[in-house]
Formats: sequence, C-alpha cells, structure tokens
Amino acid sequence: MPDPEPWAYSGSRTTGAVPRLAIVALPTGFAGENPPTAWPRLPGAPRPERLVQPLDSIQGVGPALSKKLAKLGLATIRDLLEHRPHRYEEAVPERPIADLLAGEEAAIAGEVRRVSVRRPSRRLSIVQARVADGTDEITAVWFNQVWLAERLQPGTRVRLRGQLKRNEFAVRSYDLNGVSATADYAPVYPASDEVTPKRLRALVEQALPLARDLPDPLPASVKEREGLPLRADAFVALHRPRSLAEGELGRRRLAFDELLVLQLGLARVRRGREGGVAPALAEPGELVARYRTLLPFELTQDQERAIAEVDVDLARAAPMQRLLQGDVGSGKTVVALYSLLRAVESGFRGALMAPTETLAEQHFLTVEPVCAELGVRVALLTGSVKTDLEGAQLAVGTHALIQEGVDLRELAVAVVDEQHRFGVEQRRALAEASSPRGVNGPQAKPAGLSGAGASGGAGVEQRGALVEERSPHVLHMTATPIPRTLALTLYGDLAVTEIAKPPASRKPIVTSWVSAERSSEAYTRLRKHLDAGRQAYVVCPLVEESETSQARAAEAEAERLRRAELRDYRVGLLHGRLRPAERRELMARFKAGELDVLVATTVIEVGVDVPNATIMIVQEADRFGLAQLHQLRARVGRGAEQSYCLLVSRPKEELTDNARERLQALVDSTDGFELAEKDLELRGEGALLGTRQAGLSDLRFAHWRRDRPLLERARSWAEALVDEEGPLADEVERRFGEAEVGA
Ligand code: ADP
Ligand code: MG
Repeated sequence: MPDPEPWAYSGSRTTGAVPRLAIVALPTGFAGENPPTAWPRLPGAPRPERLVQPLDSIQGVGPALSKKLAKLGLATIRDLLEHRPHRYEEAVPERPIADLLAGEEAAIAGEVRRVSVRRPSRRLSIVQARVADGTDEITAVWFNQVWLAERLQPGTRVRLRGQLKRNEFAVRSYDLNGVSATADYAPVYPASDEVTPKRLRALVEQALPLARDLPDPLPASVKEREGLPLRADAFVALHRPRSLAEGELGRRRLAFDELLVLQLGLARVRRGREGGVAPALAEPGELVARYRTLLPFELTQDQERAIAEVDVDLARAAPMQRLLQGDVGSGKTVVALYSLLRAVESGFRGALMAPTETLAEQHFLTVEPVCAELGVRVALLTGSVKTDLEGAQLAVGTHALIQEGVDLRELAVAVVDEQHRFGVEQRRALAEASSPRGVNGPQAKPAGLSGAGASGGAGVEQRGALVEERSPHVLHMTATPIPRTLALTLYGDLAVTEIAKPPASRKPIVTSWVSAERSSEAYTRLRKHLDAGRQAYVVCPLVEESETSQARAAEAEAERLRRAELRDYRVGLLHGRLRPAERRELMARFKAGELDVLVATTVIEVGVDVPNATIMIVQEADRFGLAQLHQLRARVGRGAEQSYCLLVSRPKEELTDNARERLQALVDSTDGFELAEKDLELRGEGALLGTRQAGLSDLRFAHWRRDRPLLERARSWAEALVDEEGPLADEVERRFGEAEVGA
C-alpha cells in the first residue's frame, strides 16, 4: 500500500496558517449499527440529492443566468462545487487608510460617507465613494460600474482591495458587508464574458455549505494513510483557502478521488477480463516462420522482444490485453501482422481494426501482398467497402468489423490500431461485441472457417457453452507517444510493450524551417529528390471550415503545382473527399511508383507507408499542431535513405510565440516522447490529443504531470479496493456507467 506523503498537513503549518482541515467533522450516524431504513432524517444528515439540483434552485439564479452558466459547463450544484479556481488572488496587507503607501496593493475596510457619479465622456463613467475608517478618509474610485452607486449608500460597510494612486484608491475588487472577493487567496474562476469571476465566486459561496451533503466516498483508512482531509473540507479549502498550501491540499484530495475512481474503473475492467476465455494458441509454427523469411529486413531487438511477449500471452487461455507503444515508423505493423498470423496458423481468424477508412485501406495495402505470398486470405471491411468475409482468414477494417459480424468465436487475435482515436462509442461496441450476450449470443457454431479451433488449447472445446465469456486476444497499438503518466491513466488496465528504437538502418529525418519567400528553394530540393528517382509529399495548408472546403483548397493547390513548381512530374492528389475506391487506387499507384508526388491533406497523417518517399514539404506549417506535424513528418524516413522535412511558414516575426516554439521543437527533435512533453507544455494540461475522445477531458482536479505520485498511489489503492461496495463503487458507476465497466 502507498506510503503517506509528507505534504499532508505540514505545508499549511509552515506557512503559518491554522490547520483547519485537521478538524474532523463528527460523524452523523452511529458506527457499527445498521439503522432502520425508515428513520426520520436527522437535521444534520447529508442529503446528496441536493447536489444534483439545477442551478436555478439557488436564490437569484433565473433561466437567463442558468443558460449562461450552462455554457461554462455548469448545470448542477455539484458542478459549481467542482468548478476549480485556476488561481488565487495574492495576499495583501490590510492597512489603516492613514498608512496607505502609494502604489502598494492593499486592502482597506471602512464605511461609506457619500457617493457620486461622474461622466467625463460618453464611454466613461466614474463612481466615487468617500470611505472613512477612523484613521482617515479617502476617495475610492470605480470605472464604468454605475450600478454600484446605488449600493454604496452612506453607512454601507465596505472592504476594498486596490491601490493608492494620485491620492485616490483605485478599486480592483470589493466586498459590501463581508469579506469574500477582497479576501487573501480569493479564488479566481474560469469565467466567461457573460458570467464574471465575481459572480461565480458569489454562486460558489452559496453552494459551498451544500458540500456537506455530498457523502465522502473515501474509506477512513485511506484518508488516514494518505493524510487527506474530508471531502467537504477539501471543497471549502479549494474555494476559500486561507493559504495557498491549504488550497492545494484541497485540490489534491479531490484529484486523488478523481484518479482513484478512474483507476478503480480500470481495475474493474481488468477483473472483468480475467474471467474471459480466449483460445490458448499453440507454439509458433510454420506459417510465421515463412513470414519471417519473407521480410526484407532483420527484426530489431525491440520487435523481437515484443513478439516474444505476445507469444507468451497467446499461449494462455486468458485474453491478451497488451498495448504496443512505439513512435511512428518504429515498426509496429510487422509485430501486428505476426500476431494475426499466429491466429491463422492455429486455425482461427485475425482482425486488424483501424480508426479511419484511409488507415484501414492503407493497412490492407501493406498486409495483402504479404498474405498473398503466404497463401492467407485477407478481406477488407469498412463502412463503404465490403469484400468477402466468409472465406477470409484475416479481416482488415474499421469498427464496421465488429458491427457487421466478424464471428468473434472464430476470432483469436484482434489488433486495434491507434486505439486512442476510437471514440467512447466504438470502444463500447468492442466491449459489447466481445461479450457473448452482445452481438453473437451463444449459439451453434456457424459454417464458416473450417477447422477452427482444431489446434486450440484448453477452453476451446467448450465453445458456445452458456457460461463462457469468449473474447479474443487483443493487441492495442498506438503511435502516439504518450507520456508515461498519461499512459498509466488511459491504459492503466493494459500490459505495455514498447518499441523504443526504430530500425537501426533508419537515419533521423532532417527537418528545416524556411520562410514562405524561400519556398521556391524548397521545391528545388524536392525536384532533386524526384530526379534521383525518389518520391515526395506536399502537405496542403490546413483549412479549418470543413472537409469539403479543405478538399477544394487541396484541389486548387494541386492544380497550381502541376502548372508551376511540379510541371514535369506526375502529381496525385489525396484528400478526405475522395471515394474509397479512388483513394485506394491512388495509394496503390503511388506505392507502385506511378506517381512522383502526392499532394495531400492531413489524411496522410497516419498509416501511409512508402519507403521510397524521402522528402516532404509542409505548407503553412504554423497552422498545424505539434503532434500533427510529428505524425505528418513520419511519412518520410521510412526507408534506409536520408529523408527531409521542410516546414514552410510566414516569416518568423509574424508568428505567435507558440507557433515559433512548435516549429523550432520539430527542427530540434525527432523524438516523439520529447515532442509530446513539449506539446503538453505548450497546450496545457488535459489538452493532449485523444483525451477528449477517451472521455477523460473532464478530469477537473488532477494534473497529468504534477500528480504522477498521486496517480501511482491511487493505482495501488485501486487494487486493494476494487471489490469493495459502497459510496466509492457508486462513484465509479456514476463515472463510467455500467456498460463499460465490469463483465
Ligand atoms: P509503425 O506502424 O510503427 O508506424 P511500420 O510498421 O509501418 O511502423 O514500419 C515503418 C517502416 O519501417 C515500414 O516501411 C516497414 O517496412 C519498415 N520496417 C519495419 N521494421 C523494420 C526493420 N526491422 N528494419 C527495417 N525496416 C523496418
Ligand atoms: Mg503504423
């Protein structure tokens, strides 16, 4: 079990704050007894139902404000409580008016003597209030807040935070009859034009007492070991801290809950799978031996290790759940095909599933010739293409594969490429499809593949038995270099194999960054490659509006290039609006060397594999994201030749800092992990690609990087707590829903 962390309470003590969080609220029930269900509710008992009430249940919130709050993602009281301040105001001294220092940020407290409004111009109004505190008087000023005058009637107690400037007190924030907005460490919330941080602060203040109605799901033993406060206290600390350390402690408690729930969800999935049965495959045989001799290269050490790990998994009757992680071009596909052929040689089927049609078709083009040579029948199945699945031993396709009847009892190995790109819906479909109560309920073995299961091991004979959870061995592949923290969070339930090093024959791609004025030189270099018999890519500028306008722009650009820079060459155009058959034919022609240049949109981002292509020009590169450029760039450098990537952009001076840093990062590094970290840094927490689709964008309190130790502890607690019933299990259910979790 995790060790408690030293940060527990000491932080707030050393900064001199009262350790308020250590004061534990008295329990409202009687420990160790089973209360009758019909007991009248005690006044102090938590009423969790209050938390799910819509925000207009708060006084002063009507339909108009509700709508504005909804735009901030705030619908219920609980949402409001979970609206995390992105920062806190600094601590400032409270000074007697007589002691105010010019220019210093300070707070004053006093009483309004009189108030007036001036309008020096049509666009400017100034509220002036004379404020006295017993030491002196001063004129406090607000700009463009006329409505305040009415509320600043003589006699009103005010607390003001601001600055003494030219003998007036310029107000930055204010409280009437209380201390909230002007408090030290007042929370500053993510707000909108329509709802100010001040308004949000007032609403949170109103909601805060209801935090007690949220039952604390964390077992007392965990709180104690981890030195974590009660949840209700954590909300108070988060929204009304008396020191930064206190605010941070509150946040960490809530982040811990969040991570624990996530890890529990993953632990449950893992449990569910352990109950499943997959065909245990025999030793690697003649087919994969022939496959190895067909490959025009030696496998790298990392590939061999990956294959060995897969073989161990496949020999077991428990379904494999392995993540094969490796940067683009590291050679994952070879391992994938190996795994699929292992299924085939044992008399089963294999399926390779990709997130997009283009990628599926691309895989098909790679896999099909090899299979033809081996005498293995492959089918392609996407939304728009359906080849004969009946006789096929391998199926390549999109998620249409699992929706349209690949018989999962014949399926021994499934490879899921770029799995983070699959949306939640598709993941659910996979989960349901691999359950016997899903797509293919227990029934008699259909005619189809002959000899299936003949050499399968334990459990195979029970095919169709009612009690059995049949699931294939699954190899998930991702080329997205995910930082380890995130990998743990997203894939916490998978065993991980990494292909760390690309094939040694590979030379790192040389990247340069040229300004648009010198793009003609870039094309001169590109033509040199073409004249030497190599091929090239030109990536079109990103057009945001729609795939159609993107396609249109790409067509125009390809036309232009055909008449200008690429006059004497064979130019093909690849974009997302092509019909699948056109796309396939185009790719096949490029692969066969019948085209010199492929002008393309980002549809080439994944999967396209033509080792003879050695140079790429990316136009208006500053419009692309860092991760996207890294993926694009990896379309070259796939063979043994030195490859080049030329990033063309407007002059450096015209770019944003962020764009400059992005492009420089690409010039400086080809290491996907390094770039992923940089991406995270530039785009901020939670913005990493794929997390939105994975449904994890709503992690509100946890930071991917900073909270790594917390995540690791949550993970080990999850192992210990996975079987416990109670409020924690309810939270897991609430978060994941029943369909996705458990068996
Ligand atoms: P990934 O799927 O990881 O992006 P691929 O499997 O598509 O990478 O491999 C990228 C390129 O490297 C392909 O052209 C492939 O044929 C080639 N390749 C794979 N393994 C090796 C190896 N061991 N030695 C040389 N080239 C390899
Ligand atoms: Mg690949």
